[in-house]
Amino acid sequence: MAQETIFSKIVRGEVPADILYQDELVTAFRDIHPRAPSHILIIPNHLIPTVNDVEPQHEQALGRLFTVARKLAAEEGIAEDGYRLIMNCNQHGGQEVYHIHLHLVGGRPLGPMLS
Ligand code: C5P
Repeated sequence: MAQETIFSKIVRGEVPADILYQDELVTAFRDIHPRAPSHILIIPNHLIPTVNDVEPQHEQALGRLFTVARKLAAEEGIAEDGYRLIMNCNQHGGQEVYHIHLHLVGGRPLGPMLS
């Protein structure tokens, strides 16, 4: 059984977060250490530790991450200029919280991806 992280507590409302969207599959909230004017994390409500743990039954929730990213980018006013979606995996990918999350980052030019 995978170890829960603080993100499961955010989903359940047990720790505070600036939640922008929530439905039966996903939750989106502002990153506590934003690296750009808009920095939002979109996560499946169900714990999936890393992309290496993704299974076919997760496809609906994982697809929802992207439709919510599109909606929130529009609401943030960053859709036209553009933004970046990032999902880190394990140590070399820079993953710190082992509950997969899609970073939606924008509001300024982000430069080259790999630096
Ligand atoms: O992809 P990675 O695992 O490195 O990103 C984790 C992100 O979760 C960080 O950007 C961190 O600021 C954010 N975080 C958060 N709220 C917490 C704990 C971490 O927004 N309570």
